[in-house]
Amino acid sequence: MKKKKIDSEKILIMDSSALISYFDPFTLDNQQWIVPSVKNEIYDRTNKMRLEIALSIGKVKCKEPSKKYIDYVTKIAEKTGDATVLSETDIKLLALSKEFSTEKKNIAIVTDDYAIQNVAEVLNIIFIPATQHGIKLRYDWEKYCPGCLKSFGQNRVDECLICGTKLKRRVKRNHALRK
Ligand SMILES: [Zn+2]
Repeated sequence: MKKKKIDSEKILIMDSSALISYFDPFTLDNQQWIVPSVKNEIYDRTNKMRLEIALSIGKVKCKEPSKKYIDYVTKIAEKTGDATVLSETDIKLLALSKEFSTEKKNIAIVTDDYAIQNVAEVLNIIFIPATQHGIKLRYDWEKYCPGCLKSFGQNRVDECLICGTKLKRRVKRNHALRK
């Protein structure tokens, strides 16, 4: 794959997929940030050790986002229907991105996770796919029952309240990405 040069002025917020798959913090001049729980998601020895060293010398920095932004991002993710598939870490990475962008920092979130990319798009946060190509469309999801076809919107239910069938997700509408 062709590596695209990343603007070194950009502050990068890295999710675990980025740290595992592609990005070596030491090859980048950018300021790089994670949230504390990312550390628990890096299991393999090499990446774990590399991240620990990067953190110890300040090559990668670590910060918990403010609760205000966690709450805000959670609300947005509930609206887009991504809340059910985003982990607490994902929400926090988005929250930190939002917090930094509110402080007028030039940031981008590095992630291969489509749900994170989807919410980043809504939050007007630039994302850089670590290995894959970015999503072309932004999706709003809804849950529906494949049994009786009732829609449950984005409710936090997993089974149909009428017939008990396991709910599925489907795209409610697409938005072309802003360019
Ligand atoms: Zn049903």
